[in-house]
Amino acid sequence: MRYISTRGEAPELAFEDILLAGLAADGGLYTPVSYPRLAREEIAGLAGLPYARASARILAPFVGEAFAGPALAELTQSAYSSFRHAAVAPLAQIGDNLFVLELFHGPTLAFKDVAMQLLGRMMNEALARRGLRATIVGATSGDTGAAAIEAFRGLDRVDVFILYPHERVSNVQRRQMTTVADENIHTVALRGSFDHAQAILKALFRDARFRGELGLAGVNSINWARVVAQTVYYLTSAVALGAPFRAASFAVPTGNFGDILAGFVAKRMGLPVERLLIATNANDILARTLMSGAYELRGVTPTLSPSMDIQISSNFERLLFDMLGRDPAQIRAAMGSLDQSRRFSLAPATLAAIRAEFDACSSNDEETTAEIARTFRETGYVLDPHGATGVRAARRRLAEDPATPVIALATAHPAKFPDAIEAAIGRRPPLPEHLEPILTARERFSIVDNDVAKVAAFIRERARAARAA
Ligand SMILES: *Cc1c(COP(=O)(O)O)cnc(C)c1O
Repeated sequence: MRYISTRGEAPELAFEDILLAGLAADGGLYTPVSYPRLAREEIAGLAGLPYARASARILAPFVGEAFAGPALAELTQSAYSSFRHAAVAPLAQIGDNLFVLELFHGPTLAFKDVAMQLLGRMMNEALARRGLRATIVGATSGDTGAAAIEAFRGLDRVDVFILYPHERVSNVQRRQMTTVADENIHTVALRGSFDHAQAILKALFRDARFRGELGLAGVNSINWARVVAQTVYYLTSAVALGAPFRAASFAVPTGNFGDILAGFVAKRMGLPVERLLIATNANDILARTLMSGAYELRGVTPTLSPSMDIQISSNFERLLFDMLGRDPAQIRAAMGSLDQSRRFSLAPATLAAIRAEFDACSSNDEETTAEIARTFRETGYVLDPHGATGVRAARRRLAEDPATPVIALATAHPAKFPDAIEAAIGRRPPLPEHLEPILTARERFSIVDNDVAKVAAFIRERARAARAA
């Protein structure tokens, strides 16, 4: 499989190259030249397979010769053995045709583990083959940093630097990052906000010399390998409910649009998907876009579901690319307008094409809390605040179409958000036993000033790629 940039001005690359590159050189996002199609029998044949084997089958056409046959099966086997549930991504039923897909059984209790556990192993192997080292630098408001640290800890080809805003992440989130003892992991508490951390990250990636010397690599959700790893649970969960012989809809708590884009890709591969429901919190740019056709940036509001507190949904560019007939000139025009005037508008035909497959439902904090309380009252099931926005969207869909099952993605474990859960149901969810040690383990982090040069110097002193250069 070859990959092209949505902006049409970067070279066409193979899987292993886009795995290591992340963002395309023209600022675009890499996407496959075409989506591989699964025959109905191939989809039906996923029934009953262990998750790791289903994953290897589904990913094979995307990775091609980079990880052929047994190599891919070994990687998926190793990645998913780190999950605490034998099914990896099990379904729970909480109502008539209403299902929750539990994506939080990985090491950091958030769905990002599903893709990151595989990405870390793939990157390490690709680097070993090329005799290279890489330096991963990431900014996090919580979940991404912990998932990246867990995925890359102890790997000998990669050093990881995670910037988080000092004293502005939750106790559990910070300890998930700072109690990791591996020497290739460096947590940086930045004297600043998450926006400052992101600004520093962007500046580091723009510095061509620094990028080259350190072999900088990104692991945020614009990396195609993350998106494609997420297509797997759309297929396995729909098959468990009768696909390809019966369609399902999906409700997806959305921030950067990476997760729901994976659902769109699964549909293009041949999975019968009735509707894709974009669930947002008060940061509802996508819901507004579907309503009005105008994609318009506003400030970010903090909510109970912080991993969805995002202003720019980067992966929306990939959907737009497909909806605009894969015309890179139109993408460049839209993204240019976004840079210049913080908005772009969709032509009526494009908006209609998106609406033919997607709905959006935004929930404010009050509605999210009410959903957690309602689901607990009716079924005893405890949703986290992200998952609750999805279940709320799912219920709205079921009121219109009760006959098609809706699978709501539960993207985080409730124990990550004990205050929000206590406010909704009057009790705190216990931290799973295997995470208890982090509450008392020794923490290791460095506090660094909000200053690009200081952060760059900190990384340069510690990254092994810098020593080799
Ligand atoms: C990252 C995240 C999301 C949003 O996923 P996107 O792919 O960015 O849309 C939702 N819920 C949780 C818990 C997350 O960590």
